[in-house]
Amino acid sequence: MNFNSVMQALSGGAIDMLEGFDREAALDAGMSQATANNWKLVHEAYYGPTTSPSKQRQAREKARAEGVSLDKLVHIEKKLKPIKNNRTRNKLRLTLLSVRGTYKALLALARKLLPGADKPPEKKMTISPSRHGRRRVVFWADERDVADLEHALLQKVDPDLPLASQLLEHFLALIRSGGGVPHAVPRPQLLIPLPEWVRIIRGEGDDVVLGLTDGTTITGADFLTTHTANPDNELEAVVFHPTEGAVNQYRLERFANAKQRDMARATQPICTSPDCRRGADQCEIHHIKAWKNGGETNVNNLAPLCRYHNRVNDDDAHLVRRGHVEMRGGAPVWVSPRGFARANKLHPFGGMRSLFNHDPAKVPARAS
Ligand SMILES: [Zn+2]
Repeated sequence: MNFNSVMQALSGGAIDMLEGFDREAALDAGMSQATANNWKLVHEAYYGPTTSPSKQRQAREKARAEGVSLDKLVHIEKKLKPIKNNRTRNKLRLTLLSVRGTYKALLALARKLLPGADKPPEKKMTISPSRHGRRRVVFWADERDVADLEHALLQKVDPDLPLASQLLEHFLALIRSGGGVPHAVPRPQLLIPLPEWVRIIRGEGDDVVLGLTDGTTITGADFLTTHTANPDNELEAVVFHPTEGAVNQYRLERFANAKQRDMARATQPICTSPDCRRGADQCEIHHIKAWKNGGETNVNNLAPLCRYHNRVNDDDAHLVRRGHVEMRGGAPVWVSPRGFARANKLHPFGGMRSLFNHDPAKVPARAS
């Protein structure tokens, strides 16, 4: 396949390309969840079950005749999604498909035609995964609150220095001042072999990186200077066996105790679901074999999952919908509905991985 055929598939041929689309197959092939969901949205509109097959056929023919690009098809379906009435949706789809010209022209018309398209942005805050030790924070809030914030941050700004970096500096000073946001107390679990730890204690740990269970990392040297000076911050160690994983405990109570939770987090320092950045400290501790099905509260049956991914996990093996978590070779891994295992590699410092370079996705499923 060359570039021309790719362009053909993504532009004029988009509607035909999607005919046999299969979301699970796309995910198995490594497509991102977001893209797979977008393509599925389009596939369902043009090829899925419908109460008005003639309108659906008309839409397909129009998309083909106008050579509507994949990006446009996705955008149209996203805009139509909130519209509950089928007839209105079918009609608007045909109108939007007739828009000639650029992607921008489509955006403009969609904004004009669709009810509520000009509604205010939802008030919310989003936080990105780490990149080179930094994270991006974006929020939408009432303009009054933001104006007050901006006013406060602009005090004592030096006009000779760049504004943006000063705003950030003042913002951080503000949230840390007077009983504001506390500095998190990192609890690095000892996920490194003992000799490495000895190097840190000797002050030779500049290049040793520890994974923290809030999803960030710290070098051995930083840990030493910042945290071991304080006797309240005790080091927690978790013992790992090369193939069995963290040390086992037995089913005693429904809820994992602190030590079991710590071991589960040390094995998997972020949510087990692929590409989810949620730190294990903010996760729920999930029973891989459900408690109600006799699953034990022991380390080999526990995995951190964020609230959302815990809700969508297929707890019952016979009800396969969204995939589920399995323990493979001592570490948890997400397995797609078709049985394709994918590890969450956003955070590289899980115990089994950093100690033994273990990838649970490469361990075949145990025959049951
Ligand atoms: Zn998650």
